[in-house]
Amino acid sequence: MPLSFPPWNDEHEMLRKTVRDFTESRLTPHRYEWDKARSFPVREVFKEMGELGLLGIRFPEEYGGLGLDWWYTTAYVEELCKSLNGGVIMSTLVQTDMATPVVAEIGTPEQCEEFLVPVIKGEYIAALGITEPGAGSDVANITTTATKDGSDYIINGAKTYITNASVADFIVLAVRTGDEGHFGISLVLFPTNTPGFSVGRKLDKLGTHSIDSSEIHFDNCRIPQRYLLGQENAAFIHIMKNFQGERLVAALMGTAGMEIQLADCIEYGKTRQAFGRPIGKFQVWKHKFAEHLTSTAAAKLLTYRAVDALNNLDDATLYVSQAKLHVADLAQKVAYDCLQFHGGYGYVEEYDICRAYRDVRLLPIGGGTSEVMKEIIAKWSGL
Ligand SMILES: Cc1cc2nc3c(=O)[nH]c(=O)nc-3n(C[C@H](O)[C@H](O)[C@H](O)COP(=O)(O)OP(=O)(O)OC[C@H]3O[C@@H](n4cnc5c(N)ncnc54)[C@H](O)[C@@H]3O)c2cc1C
Repeated sequence: MPLSFPPWNDEHEMLRKTVRDFTESRLTPHRYEWDKARSFPVREVFKEMGELGLLGIRFPEEYGGLGLDWWYTTAYVEELCKSLNGGVIMSTLVQTDMATPVVAEIGTPEQCEEFLVPVIKGEYIAALGITEPGAGSDVANITTTATKDGSDYIINGAKTYITNASVADFIVLAVRTGDEGHFGISLVLFPTNTPGFSVGRKLDKLGTHSIDSSEIHFDNCRIPQRYLLGQENAAFIHIMKNFQGERLVAALMGTAGMEIQLADCIEYGKTRQAFGRPIGKFQVWKHKFAEHLTSTAAAKLLTYRAVDALNNLDDATLYVSQAKLHVADLAQKVAYDCLQFHGGYGYVEEYDICRAYRDVRLLPIGGGTSEVMKEIIAKWSGL
């Protein structure tokens, strides 16, 4: 039965078609090759996406964005997931939905002109630098410092797991400008051509192979104070708000991934034979997939509720956290069974489920772990 919620209309469909056509022609055919090469032509891809208007869906029109809402982002993420390559999806979503929304939200007009406009055009690549070797879930504990010196900040410290780090033109960087704890943290716009900045080890990861997540180092890096985003020592709340969008797109990636994997299994089950019949006809699998299709539909509605909340509420934290938690954990079970259904072929790189099984493991970790989601949900529920 078609849903009246979400409010899909012809304009959403137009955006979907643009993303789908681009994804299916430019990204999907290279999924295996780019994963194996452990890189993809990110600058070229972003330039093309910029020309198609896909890199600024919710950003203000005055900076070249489309000024649309989270339903359009939903359509964009769902179609982008048809690239079947977690690294490409992650890298692109860092550019559009993880690193840059906070710039649009609290950046000055000058900062938006200098950083957001080229991001939307696909001329600049963005990264988000929050996590440190000693502070991941515990963001309030970061130790990378920005110390005032005349009209500049001098930055010292290190970050790790930073997606897009080796290709980024700038990093939206969390730094300590004040006392210990939540209220000593600021955000700065950090150009990666600043002397003293270096990219360290590219981490040898379980999945998302097409893009690097790297260690980065800051050794007496001097940037002008005009690159401070928002108020000094007041960034924690903006980082947490920005996380809501990051977690929502993670949930959207998870639901889209499950739908794709299940549809793939339904087709595979029609052709692969065992004991004289298509394996999809074994009742054990029919029932398993019936359960997964039902759970995925429920997870999608939970995620769409979070989309609706982000569009309409001042604070969507509870809804976003519930969607991220539920989808990330369900996606592990679905990917496990979809791989199992492929038998030995599921363990072979040419089959998409092999890559998806690796990539999906990031969902309960990145952007806030499942345990952290439970902490947030408990707090919001008065526990
Ligand atoms: C591939 C990849 C890409 C990434 N990209 C980026 C990026 O671009 N930018 C960026 O800034 N970061 C990035 N990250 C970092 C990511 O956000 C962190 O890994 C994540 O927030 C968890 O932090 P941590 O790894 O330090 O784990 P820790 O915080 O050390 O957690 C370890 C374990 O302890 C648990 N734990 C921690 N606190 C609690 C608690 N209060 N209650 C119960 N359990 C708890 C966690 O759930 C986890 O199971 C990336 C990570 C990966 C793996």
